[in-house]
Amino acid sequence: MHPGPFRYHRAASLEEAAVMLQQLGEDARPLAGGQSLVPLMKLRLAGPTDLVDLAFVPGLSYVRHEDDGGEIRFGALTRHAEIADSGAAARFPILHDCAAGIGDVQVRNRGTIGGSVAEADPSGDWAPVLLTHVTEIRCVGPGGERTVALRDFILDAYTTALGPGELVREIVMRAPPHEDGERIGGAYIAAKRCAQVYATASAAVRLTLAGDVCRDVAIYLGAVALTPVEVTAAAEALRGRALTRETIEAAADAARSGGDPQPDMRGSAEYKCALATALVKRAIEIAARRARGEQVEVSHEYA
Ligand SMILES: Cc1cc2nc3c(=O)[nH]c(=O)nc-3n(C[C@H](O)[C@H](O)[C@H](O)COP(=O)(O)OP(=O)(O)OC[C@H]3O[C@@H](n4cnc5c(N)ncnc54)[C@H](O)[C@@H]3O)c2cc1C
Repeated sequence: MHPGPFRYHRAASLEEAAVMLQQLGEDARPLAGGQSLVPLMKLRLAGPTDLVDLAFVPGLSYVRHEDDGGEIRFGALTRHAEIADSGAAARFPILHDCAAGIGDVQVRNRGTIGGSVAEADPSGDWAPVLLTHVTEIRCVGPGGERTVALRDFILDAYTTALGPGELVREIVMRAPPHEDGERIGGAYIAAKRCAQVYATASAAVRLTLAGDVCRDVAIYLGAVALTPVEVTAAAEALRGRALTRETIEAAADAARSGGDPQPDMRGSAEYKCALATALVKRAIEIAARRARGEQVEVSHEYA
């Protein structure tokens, strides 16, 4: 199907794009990689009157990270493929787990991290991963710049804190505070029916280990509610305890009731809860092995 008629505009800077969007009105939309917006337009589920293309704005595609690996900055137009191949993803394997499994090669080569967080798709892969760390969204709009914590940025399914004409400029992800000698590991696993579709359920885990004790942990589920779900009960089952088979299984069990999945073509609600449990268990085990310095390859599960 073809999209309905729209006017195309090309912005030279984000500031110009913000002004254009405000002047063109609420039915104008920014366009990044087009990997979410264009399919919706073809299905006639979105019908913007005007598209303001950000793809020609210079300097918005980068992955920068400090030498100590503490902070990573992604330009809004950075493609998933670029992140998968970046030094930051080599240092933080959870980024590779996520970026390398999004859609297929075409989607990863066109789709952007800025478009993903702005889309706030309940089944999107980036949000649960970024939420396990300290992540902020730097926005620019007609009123200037502001920074919003990611946990305050995603308000509902397909709904963010972006105001009229406001755009994502940069995503900043930091490791949580930790003491010398503590080690951090993360893992993200999504279960998908095939590469071209979104996850049926996913789990993102970030652990901070002090010796064998889990000093701090964040566990998020994706695709099982309207927004990513922080499963605090699962985290509490691990925090302050040694990582053993029993504590890991207790955490995974606690994750079973964390989401509120809807039955759909991807599976029943019960199936998705059981899947989330299994994914949390695997992600904890892999995050722990990585925190201990092991190189562990992870790919999404296809079934
Ligand atoms: C076949 C297929 C499979 C896919 N599979 C997955 C998957 O498994 N996992 C997954 O996470 N995603 C998946 N996607 C979506 C993909 O990750 C998109 O890249 C992502 O949703 C963002 O799209 P985009 O960068 O192309 O942005 P667009 O489609 O151009 O924009 C998406 C939305 O964000 C807005 N927007 C874009 N950039 C900005 C900005 N800088 N500031 C403010 N608003 C902005 C747009 O107006 C639009 O509303 C898939 C897509 C396809 C077509």
